[in-house]
Amino acid sequence: MDQVFKQTTSAALKSRYDYCAGCGHGIAVRLVAEVIDELGLRGQTVGILGVGCYSTNPVTFNFDCQFALHGRAPAMATAVKRLLPDRLVFTMQGDGDLAAIGTTEIVHAATRGERFTVLMLNNANFGETGGHMAPTTVIGQRTPSTPNGRDPEIHGYPTRITEMLALLDGAKYVARVALDKPANIMRAKAAIKKAFEIQLSGQGFTMVEVLTACPSGWRLTPVESLKWMSEVQMKTYPIGELKVAAS
Ligand code: SF4
Repeated sequence: MDQVFKQTTSAALKSRYDYCAGCGHGIAVRLVAEVIDELGLRGQTVGILGVGCYSTNPVTFNFDCQFALHGRAPAMATAVKRLLPDRLVFTMQGDGDLAAIGTTEIVHAATRGERFTVLMLNNANFGETGGHMAPTTVIGQRTPSTPNGRDPEIHGYPTRITEMLALLDGAKYVARVALDKPANIMRAKAAIKKAFEIQLSGQGFTMVEVLTACPSGWRLTPVESLKWMSEVQMKTYPIGELKVAAS
C-alpha cells in the first residue's frame, strides 16, 4: 500500500499548534518542514521568527530557531547568514511585522542582496492583536480600526511590498502563493523549495509571500475565509512568480 502521509522530522505533530481553527499558518509550517526534510537540511537550518501568531513556531519546528524584535528579523538573518554561510536561513514574518514595523529592515536587506529567504505570511490584518488594519488590508475590508471598510481616501492603499521588493537588483527570486486549495498549496511548497535552493546556490535575496487564512481576524468561518481569499484577497495580491533572476 502506498504511504500517503508521513510525519516530518522538521516539525512534530505532537508539539503545540497555537492557532485558531482554520488558520493557514499551520499549513505554512507543515510545508516549510516538508521542504527542509526533502532537502535533508534539518541540522543546517536556522529560522528567524518575527512577532505574530506564528511566533510560537519554535516549539513546533524541530531545528534551530531564534526570535527577533518586531520587524527586525531581516537584520538578525543577515548576521546569522553572514556568520554561518553554509546554513539555510529563513525568516518567517507576518505582513504587519514585515510591511509595517519592519519596512526599512526588509528593503535594505533585499537591496544588499542578503542570501537568506523571507517567508511573509500575509493575512491582511494584525491577527495576533485583534485583527485591526495592516498595510496589506484590502480596499473595503472591514476591521476593528476600519469598521466601514478600508477607504483609500482615509487609510491609503494596500502595500504590495512583494512587488516593491521584486524591483530591487539584490532580489533574485520573488513569488506570491496562496494556501486556499490543494493545487495552490502544492505550488506554494514548490515556490518555498525553489527559494531555498536559490539561496543555497548563493545568488542573493529570495522571498515568498504566502497568503494565509485568518478566520478570527476576518470574522469569517474557515470555509468562508478560503472563499474570501480566492475571491477578494487574491484580486489585490495575485499569485505567481514575480521575479526569477537568471543564474
Ligand atoms: S488570529 Fe488569525 S493568524 Fe492568528 S492564529 Fe487566529 S486565525 Fe491564525
